[in-house]
Amino acid sequence: MAVETTSYTEQTDEQRAIIEMVRQFVDEQILPKAEHYDAADEYPEPIVEQMKELGLFGVTIPEEYGGMGLDLTTYVMIVEELSRGWISISGVINTHFIGSYLLQKFGSEEQKQKYLPRMATGEIRAAFSLSEPELGSDVQAIKTSAKKQDDGTYEINGQKMWVTNGLTSSLVFVLVKTDPDAQPRHKGFTCFIAEKEPGASENTGEYAGLTVPPKIKKLGYKGVESTELVFDGYRCPAENILGGEEAGLNKGFAQMMDALEVGRANVAARGVGIAQRALELALRYSQERKTFGKPIAEHQAIQFKLADMATQVEAARLLTRRAARMKDAGERSDLEAGMAKLFASEAGRFCVEEAFRIHGGYGYSKEYEIERLYRDAPLLLIGEGTSEIQRMVIGRKLLQRHKI
Ligand SMILES: Cc1cc2nc3c(=O)[nH]c(=O)nc-3n(C[C@H](O)[C@H](O)[C@H](O)COP(=O)(O)OP(=O)(O)OC[C@H]3O[C@@H](n4cnc5c(N)ncnc54)[C@H](O)[C@@H]3O)c2cc1C
Repeated sequence: MAVETTSYTEQTDEQRAIIEMVRQFVDEQILPKAEHYDAADEYPEPIVEQMKELGLFGVTIPEEYGGMGLDLTTYVMIVEELSRGWISISGVINTHFIGSYLLQKFGSEEQKQKYLPRMATGEIRAAFSLSEPELGSDVQAIKTSAKKQDDGTYEINGQKMWVTNGLTSSLVFVLVKTDPDAQPRHKGFTCFIAEKEPGASENTGEYAGLTVPPKIKKLGYKGVESTELVFDGYRCPAENILGGEEAGLNKGFAQMMDALEVGRANVAARGVGIAQRALELALRYSQERKTFGKPIAEHQAIQFKLADMATQVEAARLLTRRAARMKDAGERSDLEAGMAKLFASEAGRFCVEEAFRIHGGYGYSKEYEIERLYRDAPLLLIGEGTSEIQRMVIGRKLLQRHKI
């Protein structure tokens, strides 16, 4: 009797066609140009324009709002390919994807109609803002606040930190405190859809009160900007509370935590992509470079490194796709998304370091791509929850599921 199995690497014809298209785009348009944009720390505008044409900003947005209506599994396959090219490119769509997920899941019909069609084309792009100068892991310590005014608008005051796409975005899904006395604290936060002028450091007119300081200088993850956001008397209409005022006021914490679950599958895919690229570079270099009269790939010590890298890549890919498939099937996947994020981001770091070692002294030179990967990979250990925080999430969920 035939045993039915579901391979996590299995792809539908549609997925295969899209992945082929994205891989070609990465090989022709991202890999040859990443070095330039990385060195100049320049926003890759022409690449972003091509991504709009390919429809990549609307992959998961339903067709009725102008997107492709594809599932999370297909999305993580695409993110893996983009990250194989350059993780900064996946950074351009990561927060946008989280914003569109929040709108689809929690937005009112008016909000969906207003934003999703223009988000699907990439005409407007989204940022996602939880972190502040004094907090990242401890989200409930958020100090930025919003207070209702006599005219019905909410005035937002406070400072946000590390906002990816903070300058180029038109929308920021921002979590702020709306009830300082709430107990427990997480019942006092609201997610606002803060509109802004893309590219403007000083917003004026209806968006006055929102300033974007110069982008933060970083170790890697160049090109895509990370900024602070300073809210000082910024007025947000009540209808820009995610889900509307009645449904969304003080519901922001749970909404954002839900979004982090898909965000983690997405970061895991970025780990797989960078690990895959490191493996490709190591496989090539180790067959070209000779020591002691033979290619270094023929030394067992190097072969063992390649073997460990390939095993890590495959395991990270399986965990990531499993978390995405479970989410698509409507199953709880918080534990699985945490495991995928933890394992794949650490696999990314591991594979990049092993590939760096295999490159010997040349790995330390800017002539070789591995040098960029070495600066890019550590971000994945931090963003969307550090490895320590993932272990906390996994441990807590394990005990919940296996309570005696
Ligand atoms: C390039 C970049 C882009 C980013 N983009 C965004 C973005 O778009 N939007 C956004 O909101 N944020 C963004 N972040 C912020 C990111 O999410 C935070 O940096 C991350 O959550 C960690 O928070 P933190 O830096 O405040 O570290 P902290 O929370 O101060 O943690 C410091 C250290 O302590 C550990 N730690 C903390 N609490 C515990 C605990 N209870 N038990 C054990 N160990 C603990 C952490 O694991 C870490 O090792 C970005 C960060 C970077 C670097």
